Amino acid sequence: MQPNIPASELPRVVIIGGGFAGLKIASGLKNSPFQVVLLDKNNFHQFQPLYYQVATASLEPSAIAFPFRKIFQHYKNFHFRETLVKNIDYEEQVINCSIGQIRYDYLVMAMGTDTNFYKIESIQENGFPMKTVSEALKLRNTILENFEYALVADNLEDQNKNLDIVIVGGGPTGVELAGALADLRNDVLPKDYPEIDFNQMNIRLIESSTGLLAAMSKKAGGLALKYLQKLKVDVQCGISVKSFQNNEVELSDGTIIKAKTLIWAAGVSANKIEGLPDEAYGFSNRLKVNQFNLVNGFDNIFAIGDLSLMIDDQYPKGHPQVAQVAIQQANLLTKNLLYSTSEKAMKGFKYKDKGSMATIGRNLAVVDLPFWSFGGFFAWLIWMFVHLMSIVGVKNRFFIFINWTWNYFTKDQSLRLIIRPKTKQSFS
Ligand SMILES: Cc1cc2nc3c(=O)[nH]c(=O)nc-3n(C[C@H](O)[C@H](O)[C@H](O)COP(=O)(O)OP(=O)(O)OC[C@H]3O[C@@H](n4cnc5c(N)ncnc54)[C@H](O)[C@@H]3O)c2cc1C
Repeated sequence: MQPNIPASELPRVVIIGGGFAGLKIASGLKNSPFQVVLLDKNNFHQFQPLYYQVATASLEPSAIAFPFRKIFQHYKNFHFRETLVKNIDYEEQVINCSIGQIRYDYLVMAMGTDTNFYKIESIQENGFPMKTVSEALKLRNTILENFEYALVADNLEDQNKNLDIVIVGGGPTGVELAGALADLRNDVLPKDYPEIDFNQMNIRLIESSTGLLAAMSKKAGGLALKYLQKLKVDVQCGISVKSFQNNEVELSDGTIIKAKTLIWAAGVSANKIEGLPDEAYGFSNRLKVNQFNLVNGFDNIFAIGDLSLMIDDQYPKGHPQVAQVAIQQANLLTKNLLYSTSEKAMKGFKYKDKGSMATIGRNLAVVDLPFWSFGGFFAWLIWMFVHLMSIVGVKNRFFIFINWTWNYFTKDQSLRLIIRPKTKQSFS
């Protein structure tokens, strides 16, 4: 019971998940009149918006991950435990984790989302998701490994199968990946593999709706399409992927595309922990919350960030699952928890949309501000600045800046390493 978390007179806030939302609230409660317990299945925070740069060998995984223990070194009444939370017993006010049982006075659920394969088994088995740093690293290894196979292929068909990449999902993740892979193919790979004709390498982006970047403005979606076409990405909208097996991607119109790598960036559903009543859940496993982020039916269990579903007139389908929502909800909940100690009334959440953006490749990005949409080089500079400043840790920021500057001028980042665990088949 209470895996060595000391007893305290202070009320205990247990936070499950140290993503954008969980990290913010844990930091906000620094030296507060609460005992704070942060639980995460990893011992590090991950910066998801730059996974695609790990997958395309532009950044090291360590540049976008930051150990919790380092962040919270000087916090009082704070305890981190690395554990997978399995179940909640709300009547007893305890949660059951892989390391034992933990009691809470207030529970903050911030476990985010995981890839949703929409029950398409063949894609779940053979496709590549990109929802963790380790998945991004696996993708990098696979893509680089396939270039090595392409080099020694017996025939052109086999070579093309190893080179070609299909990305499913035309949201920011799919668009950013497609652009980065195109930059890699156009600028970097021909120098590494002079024996391969990279004009043969197809990068395809498949989107089931009628346009790209559906959550952004029409102008941003149109510009993204134009930029990707300029980079020679084959974009197909209005068609979906039915299956992926034996290196064959089957589309909804029956077309078969031969490719060894399919990257699935087509949807997410909230991470679920057993124990809460069924009525607490809305679509995609998101937890229904009121304006204070209290889970419906509870007065001491909160849900924030991607897994929360707060419905109001402006957001009838809930807020967008983006970092700004997670951060703003965490900031308000921090204040509301502190208000509760001084009997001040809690405030309701109102999302301030500061805009959204996506980068499509070198010098190319789109930005939607509340009253202005634009694209191109200036948008790309803004994208870089905003992402750089959002990274946790001065050292990480510095290394990323150096990396980006180096890559920009040399067009030759040197992170193309295939690092994998030793197996019986491997050489060393
Ligand atoms: C590839 C990609 C690119 C993105 N790009 C952008 C972007 O450019 N801009 C933007 O605004 N948003 C972007 N997003 C979305 C953004 O990352 C999310 O909105 C944000 O991370 C949500 O924060 P969160 O705290 O709710 O969840 P997360 O950041 O997902 O954190 C959840 C945490 O919970 C932990 N966890 C999960 N289950 C358990 C469990 N059972 N037990 C213990 N710990 C658990 C996880 O390890 C993780 O640390 C992107 C997402 C992805 C995947």
